[in-house]
Amino acid sequence: MKNKFLFIWVFGIFMVILVLGQQRQDREIISVVKSPHSIEILKTHTFDLLGEIEGKIFIHVSPSELSLLQSLGLAYKNETDKFIKNHKQDFPVHDQGGINGPYHTYQEVEDELSRLEQENPNLARKSIVGQSLENRNLYALKISDNVQSDESEAEVLLIGCHHAREWISVEVPLLIARYLLENYSQNNYVQRLVNESEIWIIPLLNPDGLEYSIYYYRYWRKNRRDNGDSTFGVDLNRNYDYQWGIDDIGSSSTTMSDVYRGMSPNSEPEIQAVIQLFQQRDFRALISYHSYSQVILFPWGYTYEQAEDSDLLLQLSKNMSKLMKAVNGRVYSFGQAGDALYLTNGDLTDWAYGVYGIPAFTIELPPVDFTSGGFFNADEDIDPIFRENLPAALYLIEWAVDSYTTGYTRQVPPVKHLLCRNLNKKAEDRR
Ligand SMILES: [Zn+2]
Repeated sequence: MKNKFLFIWVFGIFMVILVLGQQRQDREIISVVKSPHSIEILKTHTFDLLGEIEGKIFIHVSPSELSLLQSLGLAYKNETDKFIKNHKQDFPVHDQGGINGPYHTYQEVEDELSRLEQENPNLARKSIVGQSLENRNLYALKISDNVQSDESEAEVLLIGCHHAREWISVEVPLLIARYLLENYSQNNYVQRLVNESEIWIIPLLNPDGLEYSIYYYRYWRKNRRDNGDSTFGVDLNRNYDYQWGIDDIGSSSTTMSDVYRGMSPNSEPEIQAVIQLFQQRDFRALISYHSYSQVILFPWGYTYEQAEDSDLLLQLSKNMSKLMKAVNGRVYSFGQAGDALYLTNGDLTDWAYGVYGIPAFTIELPPVDFTSGGFFNADEDIDPIFRENLPAALYLIEWAVDSYTTGYTRQVPPVKHLLCRNLNKKAEDRR
């Protein structure tokens, strides 16, 4: 893409918007005028870039980063107050569901997975695939016919919440799980997919971070690793051992950075859990849910070079995007991660594709940018976002089933518009 900067909606936050005075620490939000000179400077460091509005690039900076910009002679404007004024509307009061409204806490995820398992003993099995740093369970829900046995079927992974503040990324895989189970008996297509595949859903990979984001600091992104230097957190989606830390653009070696990659590859227990699951299973495709940007990304993220299966990945993304648009009219752009958004190294999709050669997608859920809400999705938007993501997930599962049955194939099944309409209707009936 020509101007990558426009799409750097980034790691980030328009953050620190106070809320908890102490949490603000002394970070500030500043803007710099976009120019070839400023872009050149910003590109050389892993700043927490929030986005671009009307020719100004907004950045969330620590005092040391601010000093760095000053020493480089880059003019900036402090914009922190602008965001503080609005902070109330960023934190809507919820009538129900506790502090995080209808979004799930760790406990609520656990309860919901137990409920789904109990109500569907032949189709759903909850398992603990690992433990977080703070000893919370990392849960997976396996969905398949004869769920207790390990059948020779295509396996697919849907995973949410590598990043704590991306609350919507918990809800989408959780609602997909619920949909599959609730519609199994009356929807032939769902039945076929569930019968012929083993779908693994990990809705919450970063429970420590999520809890911290709910109860202490809404913009928390990483896990809660004590880095031993009074900073906390490793970016879980930069910790996987594939091209880990190949440069300091796609991740950072600085502990306080929001994209800190960790001391060593696979150092975090949450990532080890995913890796172990891969070693035990035979995954054929995966979707990793994130927010925000409304975009479907595929490998490579660490380089602008094309992946060997670039055509397949592109075609699958394109068809998923088509299916998504057909639901609510919302357009998800798509492309190779490094081109479409920003360079990343050590993320799950590069790892899964690099090590296992399977189609692996990051779906950045809505909204499209931080001026449209960033990490905040309205409560009433959870369901539409789930509904538009449903046919895309089913489509990928179908691809996995087909390619598993026929032997690995680079063929892409056509989009089934009729089916898509059908699914939406069902989803509405459910509510
Ligand atoms: Zn993310």
